[in-house]
Amino acid sequence: MSEMIFKIILIGDSSSGKTNIINKYISNKFIENSQPTIGVEMFSKDFMIDDDSIHAQIWDTAGQEKYNTLTSSYYRGAKGALVVYDVTQKATFDKIERFIDEIKDNSDKNVFLVLVGNKCDLEENRVILKEEGEKLAQKLKIGFFEVSAKTGVGIENLFKYLIDEVYKKNNREFKSVATIEMDDIPNIKLNQPLITNPGQKKKCC
Ligand code: GDP
Ligand code: MG
Repeated sequence: MSEMIFKIILIGDSSSGKTNIINKYISNKFIENSQPTIGVEMFSKDFMIDDDSIHAQIWDTAGQEKYNTLTSSYYRGAKGALVVYDVTQKATFDKIERFIDEIKDNSDKNVFLVLVGNKCDLEENRVILKEEGEKLAQKLKIGFFEVSAKTGVGIENLFKYLIDEVYKKNNREFKSVATIEMDDIPNIKLNQPLITNPGQKKKCC
């Protein structure tokens, strides 16, 4: 049993719906005409996966994405990132690759990325087809979800997927480190004493 803290960040163009995605997930609330966030906000949610307790810290920008003034501390240590665009605004979709480069430049190289097309409730105003989102995600080799922070469709599944994948990745890394350490100790055989007789002459290989 271990305790793990996962920093999850949301990034994407201003007004793509990041704050509302978090609100919907954390408190099942949607705010019509919400104002830009003031000050970086961090929300947390705790889970148990298998025997491990997970503290997910979900970070929201303070609207600095609007002025390109997000600092590297926002990205630092993130284990997962949701990269959000608005399916009704092409400009938000066109900025995705730039945001992904920024994440890669400033976060852990193992950060787990998911592309998120938000506002899928506004079907009549849609300008980015679901297939276009899928295609970009395939090109970038990352996961993809369409969601609506308004109706809540896709939100639970999105966070479940992200947290499960981050958990799997971290667990695997933890185990592979443990394996490497074991492998580094030469000649370990089960049921044999680890300390060899110092008087014994080593056979040449
Ligand atoms: P942020 O700047 O990325 O944090 O975006 P906000 O969460 O503040 O949302 C910007 C605007 O889009 C607000 O007026 C929200 O009410 C609206 N909005 C956010 N998500 C959705 C959604 O899924 N559907 C609809 N119809 N509007 C949304
Ligand atoms: Mg916001």
